[in-house]
Amino acid sequence: MKSLNTPAIIYRLTRYSDNSAIALAFSPEYGKLKLFMPNAYSKKGGFMTLTPGNLTFIMKDTSDLHRFVAFSHNPAYHYYSQTPEIIVRLNICFDFFEHLFHSGEQCRIFWEMCLKYSEDNCRKAGLYTIYRLMKEAGVMFDLKCKCGSAQGDILLKDGELFCGKCGVSQSPEEGIPISGKMYSNLLAFPQNELFKNINFTHEEELKLLMLFNNHLSVVSGKNKMLKSVSVFISMQ
Ligand SMILES: [Zn+2]
Repeated sequence: MKSLNTPAIIYRLTRYSDNSAIALAFSPEYGKLKLFMPNAYSKKGGFMTLTPGNLTFIMKDTSDLHRFVAFSHNPAYHYYSQTPEIIVRLNICFDFFEHLFHSGEQCRIFWEMCLKYSEDNCRKAGLYTIYRLMKEAGVMFDLKCKCGSAQGDILLKDGELFCGKCGVSQSPEEGIPISGKMYSNLLAFPQNELFKNINFTHEEELKLLMLFNNHLSVVSGKNKMLKSVSVFISMQ
């Protein structure tokens, strides 16, 4: 068995026994990888996750649990690990990724997005990454309401947007209300030029996160708030 080398991010570690762990990694070439990591916990402390670098591993043909060999963090991204604003948002993005992609499925745009975080842009980058993940997975809801006229109150309900005109029997308890401002923000996501000029307030970021999380619950059939999202909310 020969070892393979790839750029990657190790995004989750679960203690297996003693010092070993099961690591989840994401690579632009191999997608999601599950790795057995024999010495994940040393006296020097835990392994630094959510920071881009280079992974060496041995791919098993007979199992989806591959063998971790080494990981070198890319020094250009050391600031990720020192910037909680970035880590907390990447953590949310990887939670979405985990629910939307299977082992081995590729998502190049996600890799590109993972390399673009800074302290200044992380609010926007986080939301955009989630939007692109859902789009790549083919589950993103249509950003216009069903009829396209967007009259009156808009709701996200059962994974679709309805306005006062097209959602006849809608009641606010049945969905998530979308304000006019939020609706115009949503419409900007697929339009690079428009999106460039948008800035999200903290409040707007939270509302969009809840909206995307709610939609994920609908498409995945698992009705729950992501742990990373509740951590994010509790941090504020
Ligand atoms: Zn409508």
